Amino acid sequence: LAQLFRPLDLLGMVYRTIRQGLVDMAAMFDLIDTPAEVRDAPNAPPLAVRGGTISFDHVRFGYDPDRVILHDLSFTVPAGGTLAIVGPSGAGKSTLARLLFRFYDVTGGSIRIDGQDIRTITQASLRAAIGIVPQDTVLFNDTIGYNIGYGRDGATQADIVGAAQGAAIHDFIAALPRGYESMVGERGLKLSGGEKQRVAIARTLLKDPPILILDEATSALDSRTEADIQSTLRAVAQRRTTLIIAHRLSTIADADQILVLDAGRVVESGTHADLLKAAGLYAEMWTRQAAEDVA
Ligand code: ATP
Repeated sequence: LAQLFRPLDLLGMVYRTIRQGLVDMAAMFDLIDTPAEVRDAPNAPPLAVRGGTISFDHVRFGYDPDRVILHDLSFTVPAGGTLAIVGPSGAGKSTLARLLFRFYDVTGGSIRIDGQDIRTITQASLRAAIGIVPQDTVLFNDTIGYNIGYGRDGATQADIVGAAQGAAIHDFIAALPRGYESMVGERGLKLSGGEKQRVAIARTLLKDPPILILDEATSALDSRTEADIQSTLRAVAQRRTTLIIAHRLSTIADADQILVLDAGRVVESGTHADLLKAAGLYAEMWTRQAAEDVA
C-alpha cells in the first residue's frame, strides 16, 4: 500500500512546491492576474554568471501596447555594485524589477546579464541567479524552519540555522518554546514586519544568488529595527550586484549609483552628493522627506 501512495505523496509535494512558488511570487509582485506569457527560446542555454553585471539598453515596456510605462531606459550596474532606484509612485520602479526577473518581455531594447540577453537563456537559470527580498514576505502555515529552508532545496538544519544567524533572527527563534519547530503563518505565531523581513533575508542567504533585488518596505518599521535591518541587508548585498527599489531616501544615501525615475524615464542619476548638488527632483524629494521625518 505504501508503494501505491508514494507517487501520490510526491505529486502532492510537487503541487505544493509549485503553488507555493507562485504564491510567493504573486505576493512579491502582485502577479495573481498575470498570465504566463514568457517562454524559453528553443534550446536556450542556462545563464552563465561571471560577475553579475546588469545592463538595460534602451528598454521600452508597457503592460498594454497602447500605454508605454518605461521609455528608453538605459543603465548598467557593474558586477558587485549597488544601484538604487527612486522616484514617485507609479514611476515604474517595480516594473523594472519584474522585467529583470523576466515576468514580462521588453517591447524594445534589451536586458543583459554578463552580456547575455535574458530572452536567450532559460528562465529557471535566470531566476536561480536572482534573489528577492520583497516588501512583504508570505509565510506558509508551517514551521519557521520550513519557512527559512524554502530558500534552497535540500537545505539542512545547519544551513537553516546559519542563514538565520546571518539574518540576525536566530536568537529570536532559539528563544521560542519550540524553536525552529514553531508554527508560523495564519494558524501559528504572527511575526512582526521586521521579523518577516528577516525570514526573507535568511531565505535569500540560503539561495545565495549573485544578484539581489531589495524591494524596500513602504511601511516604516521603528527606526531601531529599521537601522538593524539595513545593516543586515548591507552585509547580504556585499559582493552581489544589488538593485534597491527605495521609498525612503535616507536608506540609500550610500548607494554607488542612484537612478531617479519619473513617469518611466530616467530624469537624473548619480551619487547622493551629485544629486543634491543638481538641485532637481531628487533634491526636492530629499528635502520633503527630511521635513516629514522631523514632523
Ligand atoms: P510604487 O512606488 O507606488 O510602488 P512604482 O514606481 O513601483 O510605484 P510600478 O508598480 O512599476 O510603479 O507601476 C508603473 C505603472 O505601471 C503604473 O502606472 C501602474 O499603474 C502600471 N502597472 C503596474 N502593474 C501593472 C499591471 N500588472 N498591469 C497594467 N499596468 C500596471
